[in-house]
Amino acid sequence: MSLFGEKFKSGTAPGKGTYKCTRCGKIVVLETDEDLLPTCPKCGNENYHRK
Ligand SMILES: [Zn+2]
Repeated sequence: MSLFGEKFKSGTAPGKGTYKCTRCGKIVVLETDEDLLPTCPKCGNENYHRK
């Protein structure tokens, strides 16, 4: 299964893992499956790829 190109949006809880902002490359780590993706703390973007 390939996750390449899959996008994740802020405000959702896509699960524990490492996510990378599609605009600036900022890394956001979710520690639990309940954590919500924030808007990017650096550029305010709402889309991420899983890293
Ligand atoms: Zn960003």
